[in-house]
Amino acid sequence: MTSPITTNPFDDDHLHEECAIFGVYDCEDAAALTALGLHALQHRGQEASGIVTFDGKLFHSQRGLGHVADIFSNEAVMRKLPGHSAIGHNRYSTTGETAERNIQPLFADFEFGGFAIGHNGNLTNALTLRKELVKRGCLFQSTTDTEVIIHLIATSTYSTVTDRMIDALRQVQGAYSLVVLTDSNLIGVRDPLGIRPLVLGKIGEKYILASETVALDIIGADFVRDVEPGEMVVIGANGLESLKPFVGADRRFCIFEYVYFARPDSKIENRSVYEARKNIGIELARESNVPADVIIPVPDSGVPAALGYAQEAKIPFELGIIRNHYVGRTFIEPTDHIRHLGVKLKHNANRAEIEGKRVILVDDSIVRGTTSIKIVEMIRAAGAKEVHMRIASPPTTHSCFYGVDTPERDKLMAARHSVEEMAKIIGVDSLAFISMDGLYRAVGEAKRDAVRPQFCDACFSGDYPITLTDQEGGANPQLSFLTEISGTR
Ligand code: AMP
Repeated sequence: MTSPITTNPFDDDHLHEECAIFGVYDCEDAAALTALGLHALQHRGQEASGIVTFDGKLFHSQRGLGHVADIFSNEAVMRKLPGHSAIGHNRYSTTGETAERNIQPLFADFEFGGFAIGHNGNLTNALTLRKELVKRGCLFQSTTDTEVIIHLIATSTYSTVTDRMIDALRQVQGAYSLVVLTDSNLIGVRDPLGIRPLVLGKIGEKYILASETVALDIIGADFVRDVEPGEMVVIGANGLESLKPFVGADRRFCIFEYVYFARPDSKIENRSVYEARKNIGIELARESNVPADVIIPVPDSGVPAALGYAQEAKIPFELGIIRNHYVGRTFIEPTDHIRHLGVKLKHNANRAEIEGKRVILVDDSIVRGTTSIKIVEMIRAAGAKEVHMRIASPPTTHSCFYGVDTPERDKLMAARHSVEEMAKIIGVDSLAFISMDGLYRAVGEAKRDAVRPQFCDACFSGDYPITLTDQEGGANPQLSFLTEISGTR
């Protein structure tokens, strides 16, 4: 069957991707270090991975669908990745014929040499730029937003790679943390608001770039610092050069990274993710505790917040739900039917800790609500006397356009229902979400600055810090829904 011709190349692909990036410069076993780094970052994208290396003369690339450990599992594959410098990428992608060509790092042969790029984030004017570039004769090889950057570099009138990159990035809008490998440099860039993370590390004297510090830990590298929002680090034979080529803006790091997305053992922007999650639990208990016999986390994402909650509320913490670790995250299963199945496959109630008890369940977020409905059903079937649910984030009312895969707005339970209605649908005796200020307190701020929020919290507030050019142009069906909602609310 041939696929339909579409005017929107992103139609057949999710606009929003969860991704991880990694890079290493001038280091022995560059590909193996990259595979290890990507393995530590597997939680940021589980459907495809790729590594590109440079051996001083040639670039080499291996990419595939599946988990890092499966793709880079044997010596034969690793032998195809010689060289002392490498970048890698993990991606959440859709299945189907477009998937393979969209696996990153993307690679281009420019007149000035080879150029490989890995991107975490999402550009919000990619479609608009793509249309212009196609008119100018650019031939796109993939349907990713990232490829727009490659064509902007190719068509730039500047001469050096870094100048061309700066020229290209000044034209894009959206969220981007990038790793780039050329025949002389490893380059890392963070968008001016620093929406997605990117850290700089060192193994001996050699530089590493990674989405999160856990990727440094796994290879025994030392954390040096976060790459700053709007900063470009150019690593080469003479060491590291830091450039600040973009117009200054207030940082707006994604607060959802602290709530759910990043690994709890990572440290981002000087805050431990685990500590932030525990603090959220403490704040949540202060805001909305009820008398109960036991605090039960929805594993694994609800565990640190549930610990904080239990400590603050002085109620015993028990593992009342046991997770089967051999099933992927329910959230990213492709169909509703499978998603339902997935929840049953993934969790089992630990009846001994539940029967006859007043239970407080703690989870990180409610997106579609599918997980919560199933979990509560399971806890009730295990004999709970009361079931209360506490959520470690404010209601998710808006889609993310900056790189976290969220469903369209009409599929978000909190976009369509009040908290009371959600409690009824989910089947709990009470439901409460942490307040926005509570969440900000948990990550070390006194409160949310209403004029200049310290973080990007668009998924909870609808306050999008970067223009949604493509969506405003009607390129994405989500916008027509957004417009409809804002007109009727
Ligand atoms: P649901 O409400 O059934 O759509 O799923 C909510 C659960 O999915 C949350 O409790 C999280 O553990 C997880 N989750 C939330 N956001 C994401 C995301 N962007 N990607 C993957 N999993 C997520």
